[in-house]
Amino acid sequence: MRRKLIAGNWKMNFTSEEEVTNFMVNLVPGMLADVLVCPPSIWLYMLKNSNCFIGAQDVSPHALGAHTGDIAASQLKAMGCKYVIVGHSERRTDHNETDELVKQKAQAVIDAGMIAIICVGETLAQRELGITEEVVTTQVFRSVPENATPANTVIAYEPVWAIGTGKNATPDDAQAMHKIVRAQIAKQLSQGTADSMRILYGGSMKPANAAGLLAMPDIDGGLIGGASLLVDDFNSIIDMVQ
Ligand code: PEP
Repeated sequence: MRRKLIAGNWKMNFTSEEEVTNFMVNLVPGMLADVLVCPPSIWLYMLKNSNCFIGAQDVSPHALGAHTGDIAASQLKAMGCKYVIVGHSERRTDHNETDELVKQKAQAVIDAGMIAIICVGETLAQRELGITEEVVTTQVFRSVPENATPANTVIAYEPVWAIGTGKNATPDDAQAMHKIVRAQIAKQLSQGTADSMRILYGGSMKPANAAGLLAMPDIDGGLIGGASLLVDDFNSIIDMVQ
């Protein structure tokens, strides 16, 4: 039985301690899902003793040392992080992150004793070309470390055309892709690993569509951007986990 994970990715939002406090005092994690908030790193210290898991949105592939602007996995761990998102499509696009770099980052997270949330997903152009399956399975093959287990890795299937656009994959389309991702994990790791590894859906998940997506057998939670900035919306998605 895979426990659902509802993960909020605040991206580069919230400019004051008041906004962060207001969100956190109103967050109601509930009992049925793991709840995770990934704020910009500058706010991690405020979430250290909160009633949910906390995570980072990126990590350096390097250990400590001369890497200006980077944050090491060990530093995120020291700040209380349990999870780190790697390979988000915005980083793949804005910072030219390759699957190879994403894999190194995931490995750094695993080595530090945290859980890597490895993001994969096709663009609209790739979907229209009919190469979604090939693109996503190749990303999984190249980005997921060989020592990934259900205890140290979560996959997030995030069709790029659905992120921040208000367009979401239908529950049936998302389920079909999650099944393909799970089969790929079985092929490259093992069937047991695939059966227990959590695969999140991300892409305009919101209160109006979350119940249908979360009801699908291979959808083990959500990676939520826009709707994770509004605490009432985030709480209602958490509430939908049965
Ligand atoms: C995301 O940030 O991973 C995401 C899915 O964003 P949104 O929910 O806004 O589409």
